[in-house]
Amino acid sequence: MPGQAMPARIEIVEVSPRDGLQNEARPVSTAEKLALIAQMVEAGARRIEATSFVNPARVPQMADAEAVMAALKGRYPQVSFSGLVLNARGAERAVAAGCQELTYVVVASESFSLRNQGRGIAETLAGWSEVGRIAAAAGLRRNVLIAAAFGCPFEGRVDGARVLELASQAAAAGADEIGLADTIGVGTPGQVGELFAALHQRLPGMPLRAHFHDTRNTGIANAVAALAGGAQILDASAGGIGGCPFAPRATGNIATEDLVYTLDGMGVRSGLDGRAIAALDPWLAEILGHPVPGKLGKAGWFDGSPPA
Ligand code: ZN
Repeated sequence: MPGQAMPARIEIVEVSPRDGLQNEARPVSTAEKLALIAQMVEAGARRIEATSFVNPARVPQMADAEAVMAALKGRYPQVSFSGLVLNARGAERAVAAGCQELTYVVVASESFSLRNQGRGIAETLAGWSEVGRIAAAAGLRRNVLIAAAFGCPFEGRVDGARVLELASQAAAAGADEIGLADTIGVGTPGQVGELFAALHQRLPGMPLRAHFHDTRNTGIANAVAALAGGAQILDASAGGIGGCPFAPRATGNIATEDLVYTLDGMGVRSGLDGRAIAALDPWLAEILGHPVPGKLGKAGWFDGSPPA
């Protein structure tokens, strides 16, 4: 985005242990999840979405949420671990499990909300007051992620004005961070940049986070557009793994290593080591039983010097 100011430093939230794994067919063991987290910490990740506290019957891959958090307790004091929650019960579990942050999802379209959360938008927003209160009382960072913010698999295009309104209401109820998620990967950079710029104007001073799925190969471009629009926090997943159990044909998050490569080249620091993350690809492919979509692991890091 020539002409747009890019931040010198941003935060990346590593979401591979949660969004990356929740839709995988082959069960990933708690030990494998902990190994993934350990390697991401080693590669510089300082905010990690470790798990979700949802109904294990609906998302079996996240059934070991408590076990994952118990194993992390006290092990990585430099890292802030978040749990994704959909309701007060989930929030209480996240607090009890020792999460430092909690992320609550509000879906921007009514049909998707009913399928994903089992309730409509108004009810979900009302639920945030209680969840936010539980998080605040326990000293957890309160993140709200507005899902399907750029498009819905059941309703089509989502009105940006509605997204801004939902963000304002969530912020008014108390939030430390507001994110917009392109759950099904339909957004394009112009739309993303405009919506973030409008959100930044609407909620000045609020840390803004962006979450992109690379379903249509627009994820990295959208991430750059979000930063130019005022976002300072990006979600990404090692190897580009991931999907959503309730979003038909949604594919993985933007690959952390590909994102780091792009940002490094633009002079935007994240503190993550893209080469180290790319080197995890063969291991990820082995535990998942299929190749991962990230590009850097295949192509290698280009640093400008001729090959030795
Ligand atoms: Zn996602």
